[in-house]
Amino acid sequence: MPPTSSADEAVDRSRTEFVIVGAVIGNSLASVEIRNGRITAVGDVDPNLPHHSVSGWLTPAAIDAHVHLHYRKATSAMLRGGVAAALDLGAPISTLSNHRSARELLIVGSGPIITAAAGYPTQSWGRDGYGLEIETPDDADQAVDTLAARGARVIKIALAHGPRLSPALARQVVQRAHHHGLLVFAHALSDADAKEAADVGADVLAHTPTEPLTKPTIAAWSDRYVVSTLTAFGGSAGANLTKLHAAGADVVYGTDFGNTTRAGVSRAEIEQLKGAGLTSKAILTAMTATPADLLKLNGFGRITAGARASFILTATDPLADPSALAEPSQVWINGKAQLHGAVTSP
Ligand SMILES: [Zn+2]
Repeated sequence: MPPTSSADEAVDRSRTEFVIVGAVIGNSLASVEIRNGRITAVGDVDPNLPHHSVSGWLTPAAIDAHVHLHYRKATSAMLRGGVAAALDLGAPISTLSNHRSARELLIVGSGPIITAAAGYPTQSWGRDGYGLEIETPDDADQAVDTLAARGARVIKIALAHGPRLSPALARQVVQRAHHHGLLVFAHALSDADAKEAADVGADVLAHTPTEPLTKPTIAAWSDRYVVSTLTAFGGSAGANLTKLHAAGADVVYGTDFGNTTRAGVSRAEIEQLKGAGLTSKAILTAMTATPADLLKLNGFGRITAGARASFILTATDPLADPSALAEPSQVWINGKAQLHGAVTSP
């Protein structure tokens, strides 16, 4: 992806124009007019365009706010599985300029994780460029400046066991990132690390922490964001997410794909979110509008005129059970059918 601060990337102009008829959107039947990969009208559509009759529920395609696509590539499977955009939270810096090769999938990324010398993940899974090690305030500024210049959409820091960033250095990274208008995602799995992440000014927990969180930590995150990744780690993550959500933290759907193996909308993650007590509506919002707004992905996460024509069609109502989204009967991304070339016409 080019380093635009507000993603509204052009879509292929060669797409056909058509109307999807017969789908339930939210609670009511509505036709959707599509031209050049975008929604041009909802409800009051052009009767002269070709009609594709469907039956089922239409939901915006999902955004997965925590993946590692350099670690495990699955662009086509993600698209077929109803994912329109993904946030790569840890990959070598070279990937930041390679995201265009992802076809219809919009990938935004953090590039490497800013960490201490020999810090997480440079001695484990992230040996090959997944970490960017810093030791001084100048290093901190330079690391953020470099990532920003290369097109990072967010900054990720590691606060983990082993060699670690001092609070002062972590705060320096956050301030520099905010200076560039970039949010900071923190990898912090313990209670103390999550609290410290809040204290240094991080905006988003890249994972729901796995160690039971104490009240001060829950309170510190109550007006910020947490990416779910409940399937990836387990531990006390589910109970923590329940508390964070109840306290007011905004939940963002993320699977840690790469670390997990299910490409596309993950039934397991949705089941875990249900288990954490989120309503169907809250789960759908966490998969669509919340990450679209958080990541400034204009045109994603909503079915409205001007947005991208990226949808999941399901045979059952996702507001009754959002796990339906893991078994789409059709997926369109930018107006292009992903599962079947054409839909039945009347
Ligand atoms: Zn991850």
